[in-house]
Amino acid sequence: MPARKSTEKAPVTQGKKAAAQAAAAADPRSVACPKCGTVVDTSVVSTLLAGSDQLKALFAGTLNRPECPECGTLFLIDEPLVYRDTASAFIAYQVAMPEDGDTSAIEQEIDCMATDISSSEETERPTVRVTFTRSDFIEKIALRNDGYDDRLIEYAKFQLLKSLDSEELNHRRHRLLFDFSNQNPDIIAFIVFDRENNQPVSRVHVQHGDYDALLEEFTSSTQLMLELDALFPSCYVSCDRLIG
Ligand SMILES: [Zn+2]
Repeated sequence: MPARKSTEKAPVTQGKKAAAQAAAAADPRSVACPKCGTVVDTSVVSTLLAGSDQLKALFAGTLNRPECPECGTLFLIDEPLVYRDTASAFIAYQVAMPEDGDTSAIEQEIDCMATDISSSEETERPTVRVTFTRSDFIEKIALRNDGYDDRLIEYAKFQLLKSLDSEELNHRRHRLLFDFSNQNPDIIAFIVFDRENNQPVSRVHVQHGDYDALLEEFTSSTQLMLELDALFPSCYVSCDRLIG
């Protein structure tokens, strides 16, 4: 992964500006190939709209990933991204993790911005999410597009990890990511990633019926929905919050 640059100081402000633009833009950029140093002229996308070609490229793993014409290396330009789906009032951000690991300021900034957007545009407050890795960013968009409540999915992950807890599979060493390529409608599949090297090590799933029952249980109870709000009080919705 390329070294973080100091220009990432204000990713959210950049994202806000980008989100306000109607069309997705690609900025021309010259970047040195991390392997051979050849300067590659490319373009970097920072805003993604629902249904766009840029979104397809994100899911295909090709977004902001130029190929060096000299040595053939594909390398990722891992810069902040914002996804906006106006129809379903959803905005997701991928920003750099603060060096001290304290995400509270970013969470607050994004939550405030969502409120500002809705009051200035006189629309419903969008659902906003912040993520700190590209895989989490993709997961948020995939869950939203597939009609899931990501808070319940994170809750289900937590339950699943708790029930499977063993030497081979546990939350300290592993994390789960929604498998959007799963074709079996009866299950919700997750890929198990090793936290240390970020490599997939196995796959687990929950029955779709169990998720539906969980959804029904929560949505039919004001008390449980309040508890869900309390479990995930900000735009940073992650199973790791529950593990603590
Ligand atoms: Zn190269």
